[in-house]
Amino acid sequence: MKYKRILLKLSGEALMGNRQYGIDPERLAEYAEDIKAVTEKGIEVAIVIGGGNIFRGVAGAMNGMDRVQGDHMGMLATVINGLALQNALEDAGVKTRLQTAIKINEVAEPFIRRKAMSHLRKGRVVIFGGGTGNPYFTTDSAAVLRAIEIEADVILKGTRVDGIYNTDPEKDSSAIKFDHITFDDVLRKGLKVMDTTAFTLSQENDLPIIVFDMNTRGNLMKVISGENIGTQVSL
Ligand code: UDP
Repeated sequence: MKYKRILLKLSGEALMGNRQYGIDPERLAEYAEDIKAVTEKGIEVAIVIGGGNIFRGVAGAMNGMDRVQGDHMGMLATVINGLALQNALEDAGVKTRLQTAIKINEVAEPFIRRKAMSHLRKGRVVIFGGGTGNPYFTTDSAAVLRAIEIEADVILKGTRVDGIYNTDPEKDSSAIKFDHITFDDVLRKGLKVMDTTAFTLSQENDLPIIVFDMNTRGNLMKVISGENIGTQVSL
């Protein structure tokens, strides 16, 4: 295995499967099985989950809602997804802990870095909900922040696309995929990997990002074992 401790970023939309909204239990169960398989190899897994399948602060603001209020709703949406993922993982026989950046003590542990690292060392999957706990941030930023804090080897950004292309592969059939690209080249070419705050935090801390297709079963294991199936961004 190429990596020992990973941070997996899953978007809220990934949980929708083929639905238009909410959570697809089949997709969730598939993710849980893939995550279980890598934990059985002794890989330490932390997960940051998004909330876009339920609510986005920006969307609320466009409809006239106060942005901060909307962001709070978005953060709570990530906790809902975290609970769903926790349930699916526990159903699959994986030990988990959910830690949140905003305190909901009856529902989840508060985020405590040293505790999170201790859970990981004991083989528990740690899910981080509530993003960074601050409005105007995204769960991509939360993913990078937590990955640095827990000293993860890499961020694995699981998406429905199998990597980073020079143009949008869902719109342009001649799009070319990069196997590897530097942070500087992503910025120079104006490619979209994560929002700028998240991306530069990763760059400044020399934390590589691998973008890969999480919706193909077994891909998570392939990426962790070092197979070049997605796009790696590094210095
Ligand atoms: N959010 C926030 N601060 C954070 C992380 C998330 O305010 O640190 C809110 C924000 O409104 C965002 C929503 O939660 O739109 C859902 O997160 P995100 O859009 O990152 O989810 P994803 O796109 O990964 O599903």
